[in-house]
Amino acid sequence: MKESRTLLIRYDEIGLKGKNRKYFENRLARNIRYALKEIEGVRIEKVHGRILGRVDRKDADECVQRLTFVPGIASISIGVSMEPDFDKMAEWGIGLIRPKLDNLGQLKFCVRTRRSNKLFPSTSTEIDFEVGSRIMKALSYKGLSVDIKRAEFVLEIEIGPQETLVFDNRVPGLRGLPVGSSGQVLSLLSGGIDSPVSTLKLIARGCRVHSVFFDNRTFLGRGGYDKVVRLAHILNRYQGGGKLYVIPFQDIQVAIRDYCSDANRVVLYRRMMYRIACALAESKNCQGLVTGESLGQVASQTLENLAAVSCVVPMSVFRPLIGMNKQEIIAQAKLIGTYDISIEPQPDCCSVFMPDHPATRSKIQELEADEKCFPWEDLMARAMDAVETINLDEPG
Ligand code: ATP
Ligand code: MG
Repeated sequence: MKESRTLLIRYDEIGLKGKNRKYFENRLARNIRYALKEIEGVRIEKVHGRILGRVDRKDADECVQRLTFVPGIASISIGVSMEPDFDKMAEWGIGLIRPKLDNLGQLKFCVRTRRSNKLFPSTSTEIDFEVGSRIMKALSYKGLSVDIKRAEFVLEIEIGPQETLVFDNRVPGLRGLPVGSSGQVLSLLSGGIDSPVSTLKLIARGCRVHSVFFDNRTFLGRGGYDKVVRLAHILNRYQGGGKLYVIPFQDIQVAIRDYCSDANRVVLYRRMMYRIACALAESKNCQGLVTGESLGQVASQTLENLAAVSCVVPMSVFRPLIGMNKQEIIAQAKLIGTYDISIEPQPDCCSVFMPDHPATRSKIQELEADEKCFPWEDLMARAMDAVETINLDEPG
């Protein structure tokens, strides 16, 4: 018979959802099944406020790795089902701790037991002691110590009515809410550092996030496009089911260059991006836009200029990075795996025909006057007709 492992998948915020709790749990269980769909023989069960996964031993690490991408999960541990025998449980713990000790030279640990089978003759504190002291006897000479508050390794034991499980340390999850539980939004994804981070922020709040990229390959080549496609695929690993829409933007930029005032150019680009994104979002059932804007980061992100772009769309605009500084954003980009691609040198279309002195406090009336000078509705309709749709579930 194959050796199996049990994954203990914990979630937290879902627990606050009162009557909707079932809905969130079912959604999370579904997303977990989807994330593990390529792994044969996985069984996912919901049991008393947790989700258990039954998997083949050889696949356990791969499953945990995949689950670290699933929003809504607080932590994951790999466990094994065994007889409730102190020697056997301790032996298992020793096997897990020994290689860590060999690596680190010393380690603080503790045992934590939950006993829902009240017929079991020892209390949870007694079990902690029995198993913990056996492990100490075997490994204290190597530098192992017990520290309940600051343990670097926690051996968890669950004595349930049907089975006893012993779990390895917890691997942290993304937390947040399961994707699909908060509706859909559309993210303005450039190839920069910021917008992939803002996209993931909304994914981790339970949204399915589609993306739109404004492409000017006539002036900049295909490099920016290739970069955004790769970024979008990485982000889609956290959700599945995402789409990337690519809108040709060069004709609009040329018209703005030729007919509008130089200082307003970048804000005028942005107003066109917002309008197109909003129309696209409405047609794709998305309830808001997401951008990577952060207050004061560049000339187009002053309070005045942010207001001058938001006012062209009758839709919520989410700016999850608004109060973050660049160092914090970079740290998150590294964590989610988009940073290395983002820093590849490819200019964004906002930098095309960049004026020497971009307006930092553009006036709505001046912007509207500029927009009377070129047929933006026609250009917008043409750009939208030429949209390219990329299904991110298909390999890039
Ligand atoms: P990023 O690092 O995300 O590119 P940034 O600091 O370079 O951001 P801007 O270039 O001013 O700032 O862009 C601000 C936001 O506008 C981006 O985070 C993104 O949401 C959106 N944006 C900018 N350029 C594009 C584009 N070509 N396609 C789609 N969205 C864009
Ligand atoms: Mg940018």
